[in-house]
Amino acid sequence: DSLTAVSAQASFGYALRLYRSRLVDAHVEVIQDWPGEDVWVHADLVRLEQVLVNLIGNALQAMAETPSPRLELTIVQADGWVRLGVRDNGPGIAEAHLGRVFEPFFTTKSTGKGLGLGLSISARIIDDLGGSLEATNASDGGALFSVTLRASTPVL
Ligand code: ADP
Ligand code: MG
Repeated sequence: DSLTAVSAQASFGYALRLYRSRLVDAHVEVIQDWPGEDVWVHADLVRLEQVLVNLIGNALQAMAETPSPRLELTIVQADGWVRLGVRDNGPGIAEAHLGRVFEPFFTTKSTGKGLGLGLSISARIIDDLGGSLEATNASDGGALFSVTLRASTPVL
């Protein structure tokens, strides 16, 4: 297939650069909890970046009213798989909505602020990459989105 070894850190790095000024303006504390050595996933750089941009954009919107906004990005490698986590400390996802957030056009945002397509497209992309995208709430509140992809090895 057309998939290659993509650095998980580089993918997050792209999304963070895109949002840099917004993160600074909103005083968002960004925690990058990942290994110093590149962690490689079997993916497509542009499509993975698009998903991370969607997830971080949602996190920023969710934390708009949060007094001390915190964005936690994690990369965990285990047993042939890699998990990229995007966690915020906003209000989290209502229990009744947890099963619906990946539906096309599902949105709780007012007109103009969200079309409700970001997560359905993101789930489709990750599915195409042979992985999975999950939504949960963190135990201490806030939403946690996990992207799980196959680990890869770069061809040098
Ligand atoms: P949109 O952002 O246009 O509403 P999405 O598909 O990106 O569409 O998200 C769908 C819905 O999932 C959002 O309207 C919101 O209700 C919920 N959601 C997504 N991300 C978060 C988050 N980080 N915290 C709380 N709710 C979220
Ligand atoms: Mg969105």
